[in-house]
Amino acid sequence: MTTYMNFIHNEWVAAHDGRTLEVLDPSTGEVFAQIARSGAAEVGQAVQAARQAFEGEWGRMAPAERSRLMLRMAQSLLDNVDELALLEQRDTGKPSRQARADALAVARYFEFYGGAVDKLHGQTIPYPQDFTVLTLREPHGVTGHIVPWNYPLQIFGRSVAAALATGNACVVKPAEDACLSLLRVAAILAEAGLPAGALNIVTGLGAEAGAALAAHPGINHVSFTGSPQTGLQVQQAAAANFVPVTLELGGKSPQIVFSDADIEAALPVLLNAIIQNAGQTCSAGSRVLIQRAIYSDVVARLAELFKATRTGAAGDDPDCGPLINARQLSRVQALLREADAGGISVAARGQLDANAPKGGFYQVPMLLSDVPPEHPLAQEEIFGPVLCAIPFDTEEEAVRIANGTSYGLVAGVWTQDGGRQFRMARKLRAGQVFINNYGAAGGVELPFGGSGQSGYGREKGFEALYGFTHLKTVAVKHG
Ligand code: NAD
Repeated sequence: MTTYMNFIHNEWVAAHDGRTLEVLDPSTGEVFAQIARSGAAEVGQAVQAARQAFEGEWGRMAPAERSRLMLRMAQSLLDNVDELALLEQRDTGKPSRQARADALAVARYFEFYGGAVDKLHGQTIPYPQDFTVLTLREPHGVTGHIVPWNYPLQIFGRSVAAALATGNACVVKPAEDACLSLLRVAAILAEAGLPAGALNIVTGLGAEAGAALAAHPGINHVSFTGSPQTGLQVQQAAAANFVPVTLELGGKSPQIVFSDADIEAALPVLLNAIIQNAGQTCSAGSRVLIQRAIYSDVVARLAELFKATRTGAAGDDPDCGPLINARQLSRVQALLREADAGGISVAARGQLDANAPKGGFYQVPMLLSDVPPEHPLAQEEIFGPVLCAIPFDTEEEAVRIANGTSYGLVAGVWTQDGGRQFRMARKLRAGQVFINNYGAAGGVELPFGGSGQSGYGREKGFEALYGFTHLKTVAVKHG
């Protein structure tokens, strides 16, 4: 069985005490590899390597040269896309099509930020004649990146590519449930020429390696993606060092369907927004708000789509793969039992493949109807393929229900009325609003982030480059 080690200063490094953690295949429940169970010692080593890189060759690299290197790394990632997709599929249980899309996305982030590196500049500021005032965009220094298990490649890509592009040196703590693709990415980037120490990966438990990274005084910025509970702990740890944090947390995102919508176009999108990655997507469209005049019809048609979904092993490329682990599966099942006890009706459930391995963590997609908006199922993130249908009467009521959770990440609106499209876009509490679509195919160009318990700060798009730099004002008095 392969044991994967930490990647520090472009070398494989075991945990100092040799401890390891098991890696499970969610499709079978079987252990197939081990990773290093690291802690404060390895995090310290990684931060030191990153600091050296930042103060050395990497930190001195000219933007045009960094741009060329980013593009070279993007090409190397593309050259290895099949291998990365297979690792991601095995490690996370993602259907093969999704794993491939994620592997392509990480390359695309390096490409996008590679092209942007030498276009990021400060400004000159009008001031009295005897002054020249300008602003400089500078890297933070050593950035910490704490990554969850649901989209390791994508989330690594969006934060690490932007951080490297702006000249930071990075220390990454992947989720203990899904590290393998990122360790391979680190090796690919080193082979493509990334100087030692510019990117370091330390694996281990959140409470050990993750907590050590968030609290390390040598870290100058923390990018965290994960649950609100952990996000709070990470902020508190970083606050002790007065360090800025970007938080990408959960969501309970609404998809709102008005009676004038193109239902034919909406239906497959409504389904996909909740079954993609088995609902383990922070921006999953987990509530569907349907105007009453079309409510029964849309629920009935959605139910047919749910019943036709196939859940099974990742390698069989099903509509819905397994959940990440047994803990996540029992959490989702407990919430579904609550729904049952609360008398919430199940409008439809998907089918489990007859040949889905017995030990896998499978939850078939579920459509729940007439869920009261204030019910915990319509308020809490389920992080499974469970869609709550909620009727509404007026535009105002739709906005009230949509905005009536502690989250504010993403929203989708289906209507043909142009005025309503813009009104809704303005009124919805969300970092991204999609009109007559959901997710816009996830483009790396589109700034992403939330408010409330969904977090703060923006990643993706050009906007992320501002987050991974700080602004320095220089005022020269020259008489
Ligand atoms: P999690 O918060 O448990 O873990 C996320 C990461 O934090 C992992 O790497 C984990 O090891 C680490 N961690 C855990 N405890 C830590 C601690 N005390 N200090 C520092 N790091 C620690 O979340 P999860 O279970 O991995 O992911 C599921 C949650 O993440 C969901 O709520 C989901 O909505 C959210 N999420 C959000 C986004 C987004 O972009 N907004 C993306 C993916 C997942």
